[in-house]
Amino acid sequence: MTGDLRELYNDMILEHAKSPRNYRALGEGSLHRDGHNPLCGDRVTVYVQLDGDVVKDVAFQGNGCAVSKASASIMTQALKGKTRAEAEELYTLFHDLLTGKLDPEADEERLGKLAAFKDVGKFPVRVKCATLAWHTLHAALHDEKKPVSTE
Ligand code: ZN
Repeated sequence: MTGDLRELYNDMILEHAKSPRNYRALGEGSLHRDGHNPLCGDRVTVYVQLDGDVVKDVAFQGNGCAVSKASASIMTQALKGKTRAEAEELYTLFHDLLTGKLDPEADEERLGKLAAFKDVGKFPVRVKCATLAWHTLHAALHDEKKPVSTE
């Protein structure tokens, strides 16, 4: 494993971990799913309120490391107002970023704040922390009943 921890915990990640956005539960009519990353101990509940095909509101609650919290927080900001298909596209984009399949500079515009996670791929253990909320969101959108685990 290589990489400087200061690259991993950049200002954007630290700030969102400290003051997560959309940290709340959504009420009746929302989809929600629990996710667990046993490797690190991260737990997250993701709530999605759909209006037809559009993500009208998205929120989360949970406990975990800085990377998992910041990822969930930035995810909720990135998804609001997106269609389900756009949400899935972002998930793929984020996954490609973490697995080194895309160039964060070339795709900066599409990535937006998600670019803050560009160095997480250097820390394979942290990749699961960063993707937990997204896996959980995916399960909520597809109404999958089985518990979400990164293992
Ligand atoms: Zn974690």
